[in-house]
Amino acid sequence: MADHGHQVAEPNDATPFLPERTSLKALREAAADCRGCHLWRHATQTVFGEGQKKSRVMFVGEQPGDKEDRAGRPFVGPAGRELDRALEEVGIDRADVYVTNVVKHFAFEERGKRRMHRTPKRFEIDACRPWLGEELRVIAPEALILLGATAAKALLGSSFRITRERGRPLESDLADLVLATVHPSSILRQRTDEERYEERRRFTDDLRVVAEAL
Ligand code: SF4
Repeated sequence: MADHGHQVAEPNDATPFLPERTSLKALREAAADCRGCHLWRHATQTVFGEGQKKSRVMFVGEQPGDKEDRAGRPFVGPAGRELDRALEEVGIDRADVYVTNVVKHFAFEERGKRRMHRTPKRFEIDACRPWLGEELRVIAPEALILLGATAAKALLGSSFRITRERGRPLESDLADLVLATVHPSSILRQRTDEERYEERRRFTDDLRVVAEAL
């Protein structure tokens, strides 16, 4: 196994932690004890996907943020509120939606008392990938929306460019409709009200493509 420059006690693969039964409940329970990579060590808890098995739409983000890590639930922080807002605007029922992340534990750097998000590394994404594979298999969504470059590259390949391909149906076997857009946290990173407004409008327009296809 490659040496990633830290003490490796974990296999860097979640596969050994997958349950025999692959119901959502069994998956969630097993993921809570995953030690597939080192990220579990400093995070509060596993943040597994959330939503009903019959969900027609699945959103995949990057990883839980600070709020999600504490709550144990995905998309409950400020970025999640942006997603909810856009869903409501385009008329996608939240009950029809399953939300999850490529990586299930919060990766961060400490700056003083603050825990700053850090982009998960390739080996962390690869390690966690089996969970997402199981979620995709169980939910089998009609529409799969990849939020941000990390999710899009993890599922569509490292040469994928959001800026070029956002908001239009993509060639993929993962679902009938596969679409990528920015992560809603990018709305929050804009500096001015105008820029935020514009980014929110573009994000909402991308989700409208999904709403119209359903
Ligand atoms: S990030 Fe994924 S692979 Fe790593 S410990 Fe957490 S659930 Fe397991």
